[in-house]
Amino acid sequence: MDRSQQLMDRAVKFIPGGVNSPVRACGNVGMAPRFIQGATGPYVIDADSRRYIDYICSWGPMILGHNNPEVLDKVIRACENGLSFGAATEAEVDIAEYICTRIPHVEMIRMVNSGTEAVMSAIRLARGYTKRDKIIKFAGNYHGHSDCLLVDAGSGLMTAGIPGSAGVPAGCTADTLSAVYNDLDSVKKLFEANEGKVAAVIVEPVAANMGVVLPEKGFLKGLRELCTQNGALLIFDEVITGFRLAFGGAAERFKIKPDLVTYGKIIGGGMPVGAYGGRKEIMELVAPLGPVYQAGTLSGNPVAMAAGMEQLKLLAENPDIYSKLEAAGEKLYGGMENLIRQYDLPCTVSHIGSLGCVFFTSAEVKNYELAKTSDTEAFAGYYKFMLEHGIHLAPSQFEAMFLSLAHTDEILDQTLEVFEDYCKSVSA
Ligand SMILES: *Cc1c(COP(=O)(O)O)cnc(C)c1O
Repeated sequence: MDRSQQLMDRAVKFIPGGVNSPVRACGNVGMAPRFIQGATGPYVIDADSRRYIDYICSWGPMILGHNNPEVLDKVIRACENGLSFGAATEAEVDIAEYICTRIPHVEMIRMVNSGTEAVMSAIRLARGYTKRDKIIKFAGNYHGHSDCLLVDAGSGLMTAGIPGSAGVPAGCTADTLSAVYNDLDSVKKLFEANEGKVAAVIVEPVAANMGVVLPEKGFLKGLRELCTQNGALLIFDEVITGFRLAFGGAAERFKIKPDLVTYGKIIGGGMPVGAYGGRKEIMELVAPLGPVYQAGTLSGNPVAMAAGMEQLKLLAENPDIYSKLEAAGEKLYGGMENLIRQYDLPCTVSHIGSLGCVFFTSAEVKNYELAKTSDTEAFAGYYKFMLEHGIHLAPSQFEAMFLSLAHTDEILDQTLEVFEDYCKSVSA
């Protein structure tokens, strides 16, 4: 028995399911998750000191590669000054100013501790600002685990095969309306049936929690127009796409101006950070300036701010990082596409920039219903093959692959070789 299995046997006695976030469990692919003892560059090292090329990258934060020395140095120096003060610090002003002066649609920003908290707070703010209660979200989009957003909520629930969460009172989701991704008509109908009641539309501008699903041409622009026409706010949940698809995220890439935006993952450089921001006139309603209450003992934590600031600086001040990530995405996902065609597998690759996923369906996946046509058993076989050959993927069909700057051509070539072996093994 390997050490990951031994640790899992111990973990399940004291931690529900043995993990502190369900997406880490590997039950659906029939094995114990890898317990990680360390990571560097493109690699994670498991409890048996086996090394894998990592395509989870902490679900996005490690965009520069694991254990970036510059980020690490800033973190160590911040630690030496004290771990937390529960009081204002210069580091918080630095990062807020840095973001607001570089992303035009973010005029003010508030730091929190997770993506969940960021989205939950942005929804409260949208409701406070519009004095309306209803929100429109899209099936298969994940916005964290706050009560009102656990409706058709993507990867974690899809993998476990549960439609929503137990423990969420019907009252909490009564004002959550679910639309179909890439279907503007479904949104229009909800607006018509709920005239004057919709506070906001929240969307993953590129959906990355039901596999990777790209917005069709005109979809995001259409949402912007529908929100403006109906006096509702447009919230881009950029917890994955922010600082990844461009420094200014999907909003910059697709040239759409949301009213509010939420961040997480990359913004903390690997530390627990989230943030929400947007138009000044809206953000001014947040306490203590306005009546929308939101607080946090550890929010803006100095160690977390040091990590986030250094990572954002490296991203903003080395724009070739984004062209390198684009090229890496093209090489890996394009290469996988070619192999799938060459070996005639019933799969499709969906990708944009450094984000991508292999869907085990021949359908072109545009929404949640189509994502669900994937053959999850075939995925499990793929996952195991890749892991046995040194490639660490997210253990679910409905998660993205994340590339980092440390995924060099050589690393990508090694990955494509393993992927070709996989294709051979199943097409034989
Ligand atoms: C991960 C994620 C969240 C939740 O962030 P946590 O830090 O896990 O709470 C919210 N929205 C999107 C789009 C995400 O991918």
